[in-house]
Amino acid sequence: MRGLMMDYQLTVPSLVRRAETLHARKEIVDRQPDGSIHRTTYGVLLNRARRLAGALQALGVHPGDRVATFCWNHHQHLEVYYGVPSMGAVLHTLNIRLHPDDLAFIAQHAGARVVIVDAVLLGVFEKFRDRVSTIEHVIVVGAPPADTATRPVDIDYETLIAGASPHDFDAPLDEWQAAAMCYTSGTTGKPRGVVYTHRSIVLHALGLGLADIDLMRESDTAMAIVPMYHANAWGTPYSALMCGTKQVLPGPRLDPASLLELLASERVTVAFGVPTVWTAVFEFFDRHPGAYDVSALRAAASGGTAVPPAMLRGCEQRFGAPMIHLWGMTETSPLGSCARLTEELQQADADTQLAYRAMQGWPVPLIEIRARNDAGLVPWDATSMGELEVRGPWVAASYYNAPETADRFTDDGWFLTGDIVTIDPRGYIRIVDRAKDVIKSGGEWVSSVALESALAAHPAVLEAAVVGVPHPHWDERPVAIVVRREGRTCTPDSLRDFLSPSFPKWWLPDAIEFVDALPKTTTGKILKRALRDEYATYYTRCAAAALVAPAARASPA
Ligand code: AMP
Repeated sequence: MRGLMMDYQLTVPSLVRRAETLHARKEIVDRQPDGSIHRTTYGVLLNRARRLAGALQALGVHPGDRVATFCWNHHQHLEVYYGVPSMGAVLHTLNIRLHPDDLAFIAQHAGARVVIVDAVLLGVFEKFRDRVSTIEHVIVVGAPPADTATRPVDIDYETLIAGASPHDFDAPLDEWQAAAMCYTSGTTGKPRGVVYTHRSIVLHALGLGLADIDLMRESDTAMAIVPMYHANAWGTPYSALMCGTKQVLPGPRLDPASLLELLASERVTVAFGVPTVWTAVFEFFDRHPGAYDVSALRAAASGGTAVPPAMLRGCEQRFGAPMIHLWGMTETSPLGSCARLTEELQQADADTQLAYRAMQGWPVPLIEIRARNDAGLVPWDATSMGELEVRGPWVAASYYNAPETADRFTDDGWFLTGDIVTIDPRGYIRIVDRAKDVIKSGGEWVSSVALESALAAHPAVLEAAVVGVPHPHWDERPVAIVVRREGRTCTPDSLRDFLSPSFPKWWLPDAIEFVDALPKTTTGKILKRALRDEYATYYTRCAAAALVAPAARASPA
């Protein structure tokens, strides 16, 4: 039945209008490539976003056209975030750290007509630019460095908007139309495009601010350390726009010193970053005691990979603020679950609370979950494992122009996440592994995530990855690859002793190797595929060298 409530479309320009009328004086602070700090307000920034949209319209950009960005996190990038969807076009964020072959594929597949690129990234952009036949205009943000030249056809961003009339953003938009798109990192195959609608962006923006998630308030100062090309900076630019939250953007400077300086000087209250970023920040903070006052921080949000209990504790000890563990995917906009404690768990002892906060948490409102294995849907008993399936208004229903990926969606409309989980009776999700990372030893599953989280609690361990390595007898066995903290020592035996009270004997990694650094994906996750390749012949090599693979430890008995 229609006509009972207003037919009010959930669209990005509705958020823009709200911020213009209510939050025009709120600040947006960012670091520019030369290290300087730039300050503006929502009022000024949104006027520039309107002029950008006016200029793009004059260039011939129509509703539905893809406008790509190849940029760091800064105020001009935010202008594109707000201006492009509001004129009905589609913001298409390109991941600046991908290989030029992947970038050429992604930009061509999306059909990007315009690319807005940071001058400091022109060198990388030129490596794939000529392979994208759809590009008609290139708009350059900032002055090119001395060793980089723009082409005569390239347009300077500031000149473009200086001469443009503001777009009225008044064209009626359908909430179901495309507003933005991101490609998955494609670690297991070709990158796949996820297209976000106006409706999904607005509902997701609401979700981040909901009371039991509580990561965006009008009174906050929010800093997205997560790049704006990773799942729309976890939706933070839109949520901040909706709430009227002051934003701080770190630009290209993601080193711990620059991040800590911004956290302290801008009195940041909520910051969003993957665990590897926080590891580096904590390490630097410890080496410079008293140098940074981060007492304004009320929450450090983290996800993308599992957040170990040691990191949750470490955040509180150093910053006096909790780390909030989030789970999500590019396909889920990305917020899927959040490990806040229920009222009942808030009464539990400290160890129980920590264990729950280290889980991936409760599905957020409007996101439904279930898990399935070969026997069917798994019971919510905290032990049965299955692949997590999700559905909700900000979960992708398909990949862009990729009919071959239809098997990632069930016939009854759920998305198959590829994450192997248990769900406890309260509904808390615990990720055991990415399906492709699960270790199968002697017919039983070993969780690399659980072993990595436990290793991270050892005082000498900075980072650890555990991968399944083919084994002649047990199918696969876990091998741990560990980066030690500067000046700390540990041995394979001392680490195994450290793990042994918490795990069955056959879970303990037979081999523990020490390295200087772990390979990472472009979004800061450990690149397990590379480690698996590197260690693929580990046991054959052991056998060839007549080393005795520690069979006693490998026994699943
Ligand atoms: P992406 O789309 O690149 O953000 O990757 C999504 C994947 O990252 C998920 O399917 C998970 O495997 C992993 N992931 C995200 N958040 C977490 C988390 N809190 N704990 C463990 N894995 C996570």
